[in-house]
Amino acid sequence: MTAPTPLIAGNWKMNGSLAAIAEARAVSAGVGGGKARVALCPPATLIPAMSTALTGSAVLVGAQDCHWEASGAFTGDIAAEMLAEAGAALVILGHSERRAVYDETDELVARKAVAALRAGLEPIICVGETLEQRKAGDALDVVTAQVRGSLPRELERRPYSVAYEPVWAIGTGLTPTTAEIEEVHAAIRAVLVDRFGADEGAATPILYGGSVKPSNAQEILHAAEVGGALVGGASLKAADFLGIIGGL
Ligand code: PEP
Repeated sequence: MTAPTPLIAGNWKMNGSLAAIAEARAVSAGVGGGKARVALCPPATLIPAMSTALTGSAVLVGAQDCHWEASGAFTGDIAAEMLAEAGAALVILGHSERRAVYDETDELVARKAVAALRAGLEPIICVGETLEQRKAGDALDVVTAQVRGSLPRELERRPYSVAYEPVWAIGTGLTPTTAEIEEVHAAIRAVLVDRFGADEGAATPILYGGSVKPSNAQEILHAAEVGGALVGGASLKAADFLGIIGGL
Protein backbone atom coordinates (compact mmCIF):
# COMPACT_ATOMS: atom_id res chain seq x y z
CA MET A 1 0.00 0.00 0.00
CA THR A 2 1.52 3.33 -1.04
CA ALA A 3 1.47 6.14 1.50
CA PRO A 4 -1.27 8.73 1.00
CA THR A 5 -0.29 12.00 -0.69
CA PRO A 6 0.35 14.46 2.14
CA LEU A 7 -2.00 17.40 2.56
CA ILE A 8 -0.81 20.71 3.97
CA ALA A 9 -3.76 22.96 4.75
CA GLY A 10 -3.75 26.49 6.12
CA ASN A 11 -6.55 27.57 8.46
CA TRP A 12 -6.85 31.34 8.42
CA LYS A 13 -9.56 31.24 11.13
CA MET A 14 -11.31 34.65 11.44
CA ASN A 15 -8.39 36.52 9.91
CA GLY A 16 -7.72 38.13 6.58
CA SER A 17 -9.38 40.53 4.18
CA LEU A 18 -9.42 40.97 0.42
CA ALA A 19 -5.90 42.39 0.69
CA ALA A 20 -4.70 39.02 2.01
CA ILE A 21 -5.57 37.30 -1.26
CA ALA A 22 -2.09 38.48 -2.27
CA GLU A 23 -0.69 35.96 0.24
CA ALA A 24 -2.67 33.18 -1.44
CA ARG A 25 -1.26 34.23 -4.82
CA ALA A 26 2.24 34.17 -3.36
CA VAL A 27 1.67 30.66 -1.97
CA SER A 28 0.47 29.55 -5.38
CA ALA A 29 3.53 31.05 -7.07
CA GLY A 30 5.86 29.44 -4.56
CA VAL A 31 4.58 25.86 -4.39
CA GLY A 32 6.41 23.46 -6.60
CA GLY A 33 7.39 19.87 -6.76
CA GLY A 34 3.98 18.39 -6.03
CA LYS A 35 5.13 16.41 -2.97
CA ALA A 36 1.97 17.55 -1.18
CA ARG A 37 -1.51 18.77 -1.90
CA VAL A 38 -1.78 22.32 -0.59
CA ALA A 39 -4.95 24.10 0.56
CA LEU A 40 -5.86 27.43 2.11
CA CYS A 41 -9.03 27.78 4.18
CA PRO A 42 -9.92 31.47 4.54
CA PRO A 43 -13.05 32.92 6.17
CA ALA A 44 -16.10 32.05 4.05
CA THR A 45 -16.43 35.60 2.73
CA LEU A 46 -13.03 35.31 1.02
CA ILE A 47 -13.66 31.95 -0.66
CA PRO A 48 -15.01 33.38 -3.95
CA ALA A 49 -12.17 35.91 -4.36
CA MET A 50 -9.53 33.37 -3.37
CA SER A 51 -10.82 30.68 -5.69
CA THR A 52 -10.93 33.21 -8.56
CA ALA A 53 -7.39 34.33 -7.76
CA LEU A 54 -6.24 30.69 -7.67
CA THR A 55 -7.91 29.59 -10.91
CA GLY A 56 -5.53 27.14 -12.58
CA SER A 57 -3.39 26.95 -9.44
CA ALA A 58 -2.45 23.74 -7.65
CA VAL A 59 -3.51 25.37 -4.39
CA LEU A 60 -6.99 24.29 -3.29
CA VAL A 61 -9.44 26.47 -1.41
CA GLY A 62 -11.25 25.17 1.66
CA ALA A 63 -13.82 26.31 4.19
CA GLN A 64 -13.62 26.16 8.00
CA ASP A 65 -17.04 24.75 8.86
CA CYS A 66 -20.41 23.98 7.29
CA HIS A 67 -23.99 23.35 8.36
CA TRP A 68 -25.42 19.82 8.16
CA GLU A 69 -28.52 20.82 6.19
CA ALA A 70 -28.51 21.98 2.56
CA SER A 71 -30.84 24.92 3.23
CA GLY A 72 -33.37 26.18 5.74
CA ALA A 73 -34.05 28.47 8.68
CA PHE A 74 -30.54 28.53 10.14
CA THR A 75 -29.72 32.22 10.47
CA GLY A 76 -26.04 32.93 10.06
CA ASP A 77 -25.08 29.45 8.92
CA ILE A 78 -23.66 28.33 5.58
CA ALA A 79 -24.51 25.06 3.84
CA ALA A 80 -21.82 22.82 2.39
CA GLU A 81 -23.45 23.24 -1.02
CA MET A 82 -23.07 27.03 -0.75
CA LEU A 83 -19.40 26.67 0.11
CA ALA A 84 -18.88 24.38 -2.87
CA GLU A 85 -20.64 26.85 -5.15
CA ALA A 86 -18.43 29.63 -3.77
CA GLY A 87 -15.33 27.68 -4.80
CA ALA A 88 -14.40 25.50 -1.82
CA ALA A 89 -13.10 21.99 -2.44
CA LEU A 90 -12.48 21.02 1.19
CA VAL A 91 -13.89 21.86 4.59
CA ILE A 92 -12.38 21.73 8.08
CA LEU A 93 -14.82 20.12 10.54
CA GLY A 94 -14.76 19.70 14.30
CA HIS A 95 -11.92 22.14 14.93
CA SER A 96 -11.29 22.32 18.67
CA GLU A 97 -12.29 25.99 18.68
CA ARG A 98 -15.72 24.99 17.38
CA ARG A 99 -15.93 22.05 19.77
CA ALA A 100 -15.03 24.34 22.71
CA VAL A 101 -16.78 27.60 21.79
CA TYR A 102 -19.89 26.19 20.09
CA ASP A 103 -20.15 22.88 21.98
CA GLU A 104 -19.83 20.84 18.79
CA THR A 105 -20.08 17.14 19.58
CA ASP A 106 -18.69 14.15 17.72
CA GLU A 107 -22.21 13.39 16.52
CA LEU A 108 -22.62 16.89 15.08
CA VAL A 109 -19.22 16.71 13.39
CA ALA A 110 -20.22 13.40 11.81
CA ARG A 111 -23.46 14.95 10.49
CA LYS A 112 -21.46 17.83 9.04
CA ALA A 113 -19.10 15.35 7.40
CA VAL A 114 -22.07 13.67 5.69
CA ALA A 115 -23.21 17.11 4.49
CA ALA A 116 -19.73 17.89 3.17
CA LEU A 117 -19.67 14.64 1.19
CA ARG A 118 -23.19 15.33 -0.14
CA ALA A 119 -21.86 18.66 -1.51
CA GLY A 120 -18.68 17.16 -2.92
CA LEU A 121 -16.42 18.75 -0.32
CA GLU A 122 -13.48 16.81 1.12
CA PRO A 123 -13.67 16.90 4.93
CA ILE A 124 -10.68 17.49 7.19
CA ILE A 125 -11.95 16.12 10.51
CA CYS A 126 -10.16 17.48 13.59
CA VAL A 127 -9.60 15.67 16.88
CA GLY A 128 -7.36 16.33 19.85
CA GLU A 129 -7.06 16.20 23.61
CA THR A 130 -6.87 19.03 26.14
CA LEU A 131 -3.87 19.49 28.40
CA GLU A 132 -5.84 18.15 31.37
CA GLN A 133 -6.73 15.02 29.41
CA ARG A 134 -3.09 14.51 28.40
CA LYS A 135 -1.86 15.04 31.96
CA ALA A 136 -4.41 12.49 33.17
CA GLY A 137 -3.02 9.94 30.71
CA ASP A 138 -6.24 9.97 28.67
CA ALA A 139 -4.96 11.38 25.35
CA LEU A 140 -5.21 8.14 23.37
CA ASP A 141 -8.65 7.24 24.73
CA VAL A 142 -10.01 10.74 24.08
CA VAL A 143 -8.63 10.99 20.56
CA THR A 144 -9.64 7.51 19.44
CA ALA A 145 -13.15 8.04 20.85
CA GLN A 146 -13.38 11.31 18.90
CA VAL A 147 -12.27 9.56 15.71
CA ARG A 148 -14.85 6.79 16.20
CA GLY A 149 -17.62 9.29 16.93
CA SER A 150 -16.80 11.97 14.36
CA LEU A 151 -16.25 9.80 11.28
CA PRO A 152 -19.50 8.64 9.67
CA ARG A 153 -19.52 5.37 7.72
CA GLU A 154 -20.43 7.44 4.62
CA LEU A 155 -16.71 8.29 4.41
CA GLU A 156 -16.11 4.82 3.03
CA ARG A 157 -14.38 5.10 -0.36
CA ARG A 158 -14.49 8.92 -0.21
CA PRO A 159 -11.48 11.25 0.12
CA TYR A 160 -11.02 12.86 3.53
CA SER A 161 -8.34 13.38 6.13
CA VAL A 162 -8.11 13.37 9.91
CA ALA A 163 -6.19 16.15 11.69
CA TYR A 164 -4.71 15.40 15.11
CA GLU A 165 -4.55 18.76 16.87
CA PRO A 166 -3.77 18.68 20.59
CA VAL A 167 -5.81 21.57 21.97
CA TRP A 168 -2.91 22.69 24.15
CA ALA A 169 -0.63 23.02 21.12
CA ILE A 170 -2.92 25.25 19.06
CA GLY A 171 -1.66 28.82 18.93
CA THR A 172 0.57 28.31 21.97
CA GLY A 173 3.98 27.61 20.47
CA LEU A 174 3.96 24.29 22.33
CA THR A 175 4.20 21.01 20.43
CA PRO A 176 4.16 17.38 21.53
CA THR A 177 7.38 15.42 21.15
CA THR A 178 7.78 13.46 17.93
CA ALA A 179 7.23 10.26 19.91
CA GLU A 180 3.96 11.62 21.32
CA ILE A 181 2.75 12.62 17.85
CA GLU A 182 3.67 9.19 16.48
CA GLU A 183 1.90 7.41 19.32
CA VAL A 184 -1.37 9.26 18.70
CA HIS A 185 -1.14 8.96 14.92
CA ALA A 186 -0.59 5.21 15.23
CA ALA A 187 -3.67 4.94 17.43
CA ILE A 188 -5.74 6.94 14.91
CA ARG A 189 -4.46 4.73 12.09
CA ALA A 190 -5.54 1.64 14.00
CA VAL A 191 -9.07 3.02 14.32
CA LEU A 192 -9.19 3.85 10.60
CA VAL A 193 -8.01 0.35 9.67
CA ASP A 194 -10.50 -1.19 12.07
CA ARG A 195 -13.33 0.91 10.64
CA PHE A 196 -12.55 0.97 6.93
CA GLY A 197 -10.29 -2.05 6.39
CA ALA A 198 -6.55 -2.37 5.86
CA ASP A 199 -6.25 -0.77 2.42
CA GLU A 200 -8.66 2.10 2.83
CA GLY A 201 -7.71 2.72 6.44
CA ALA A 202 -4.08 3.07 5.40
CA ALA A 203 -4.90 5.49 2.57
CA THR A 204 -6.25 8.34 4.67
CA PRO A 205 -3.79 11.14 5.46
CA ILE A 206 -3.51 11.88 9.17
CA LEU A 207 -2.42 15.50 9.53
CA TYR A 208 -0.74 16.99 12.57
CA GLY A 209 -1.80 20.48 13.69
CA GLY A 210 -0.67 22.73 16.53
CA SER A 211 2.09 25.36 16.35
CA VAL A 212 3.62 24.02 13.15
CA LYS A 213 6.14 26.53 11.83
CA PRO A 214 9.02 26.48 9.34
CA SER A 215 11.52 25.59 12.08
CA ASN A 216 9.72 22.43 13.26
CA ALA A 217 7.92 21.39 10.07
CA GLN A 218 10.58 19.07 8.73
CA GLU A 219 10.76 16.95 11.87
CA ILE A 220 6.98 16.81 12.29
CA LEU A 221 6.22 16.09 8.64
CA HIS A 222 8.68 13.18 8.59
CA ALA A 223 7.33 11.54 11.74
CA ALA A 224 5.74 8.11 11.30
CA GLU A 225 2.12 8.22 10.13
CA VAL A 226 2.14 12.01 9.73
CA GLY A 227 0.51 12.70 6.38
CA GLY A 228 0.70 16.47 6.33
CA ALA A 229 -0.21 19.42 8.52
CA LEU A 230 -3.05 21.69 9.45
CA VAL A 231 -1.49 25.09 10.02
CA GLY A 232 -3.10 28.07 11.75
CA GLY A 233 -1.07 31.21 12.45
CA ALA A 234 1.84 30.34 10.19
CA SER A 235 -0.46 29.99 7.17
CA LEU A 236 -1.31 33.70 7.17
CA LYS A 237 2.03 34.70 5.67
CA ALA A 238 3.02 33.06 2.40
CA ALA A 239 6.71 32.94 3.32
CA ASP A 240 6.02 30.99 6.53
CA PHE A 241 3.51 28.66 4.91
CA LEU A 242 5.90 27.97 2.02
CA GLY A 243 8.64 27.33 4.57
CA ILE A 244 6.43 24.64 6.14
CA ILE A 245 5.58 23.09 2.78
CA GLY A 246 9.29 23.06 2.03
CA GLY A 247 9.81 20.87 5.10
CA LEU A 248 8.43 17.87 3.24
C1 PEP B 1 -5.22 25.41 14.01
O1 PEP B 1 -5.91 26.31 14.41
O2 PEP B 1 -5.72 24.47 13.37
C2 PEP B 1 -3.79 25.45 14.31
C3 PEP B 1 -3.09 24.36 14.14
O3 PEP B 1 -3.30 26.63 14.76
P1 PEP B 1 -1.74 27.01 15.01
O4 PEP B 1 -0.96 26.46 13.84
O5 PEP B 1 -1.72 28.52 15.02
O6 PEP B 1 -1.33 26.39 16.29
